[in-house]
Amino acid sequence: MSSAPREDKPPPSCEYGNPRCGARPARFYPCGWKCDRHQPARTHRRTAP
Ligand SMILES: [Zn+2]
Repeated sequence: MSSAPREDKPPPSCEYGNPRCGARPARFYPCGWKCDRHQPARTHRRTAP
């Protein structure tokens, strides 16, 4: 057991879409956490519907 103060955060998951994609693993980008399928390089030109 560690006594380090931790916030109760959920594990990182893809924030793309609404409702969220939620896929894991996700990587952190300037626009948020994105999974491999929704990384900015792929979704940059498309806007969310
Ligand atoms: Zn995703």
